[in-house]
Amino acid sequence: MVQKSAVLGRFAPSPSGYMHMGNLLSSLLAWLDARSLGGGMLLRMEDLDPARSRADFAEAIADDLRWLGLDWDIGYPAPVYCQSRRTAVYEEFFHMLDAEGIIYPCWCSRAERLAAGAPHPGEEDRDAGCRCARLTDSERAELFRRRAPAWKVQVPDLTITVDDGHYGAFSQNLAAGCGDFILRRADGVFAYQLAVSVDDALMGVTRVVRGRDLLESAPRQAWLIGRFGHMPPVYAHAPLLVGESHKLSKRLGDLNTQTLRRNCTPEELLGKLAYLSGLIPKEEPVKAAELVPEFSWAKVRKEDIPIL
Ligand code: GLU
Repeated sequence: MVQKSAVLGRFAPSPSGYMHMGNLLSSLLAWLDARSLGGGMLLRMEDLDPARSRADFAEAIADDLRWLGLDWDIGYPAPVYCQSRRTAVYEEFFHMLDAEGIIYPCWCSRAERLAAGAPHPGEEDRDAGCRCARLTDSERAELFRRRAPAWKVQVPDLTITVDDGHYGAFSQNLAAGCGDFILRRADGVFAYQLAVSVDDALMGVTRVVRGRDLLESAPRQAWLIGRFGHMPPVYAHAPLLVGESHKLSKRLGDLNTQTLRRNCTPEELLGKLAYLSGLIPKEEPVKAAELVPEFSWAKVRKEDIPIL
């Protein structure tokens, strides 16, 4: 494992499809952020959900990053950096929280199916009206007889402030702003929020750069990492690229790397991303390494970026 004192950024894609422009922009900014600080990069495959993840997508994502010149020092394809292979590690941290008495079974979650993925828009994991934390012992026993529950963590009435490297201070009261959230699905699959927090802590990640839609997840992750006895990383969120009315999602299949790689060179694609995000004043081909010396978050746009 890398020393915590060293700067270490990460790519953490979910191999449930090909990358699209939004993923590429987050990847570019994550790489520039770490490299401009003289830091290392890690590639972790967030393939928790067996129904959505595919080995060929993982390989395609790694290949796209190599094609763009966004290299990494540790990680994929070593199995220890694939979340699907880390269940025993997540078990350990899940049991640690359970021993603290802050985990409870939940039978009513509508968000459970999605919990193994990061909560992108429309996938928030809040269960309005859930009273599973307050069930009596006999109600619980009866429900256990019927079916297996998901497992949630009870959050305190505590406000966490994350000093985002791009958007500034972001405060969230965990009880009001996020609420109890799922750590494990009923089928045993661990949730994104647990896995990402355990991994960022244990893998020595010091810089987390990803799309702004996950800024809302940062306070609870910083809280979990603190409970695990680690220092949270610095978070810096990237602006979103938006199509006409929606954030680009690889599930929409828009402009994925399969199409992009047929139509442009890596330098052209990087030039487009660098220009759209504000890093260079006009769109022209550029190599990833050429962007490192001049990189600064102050140049990166904050508002959503339309790309149509
Ligand atoms: N695996 C997540 C995704 O692809 C990203 C999670 C993160 O960067 O924290 O949406």
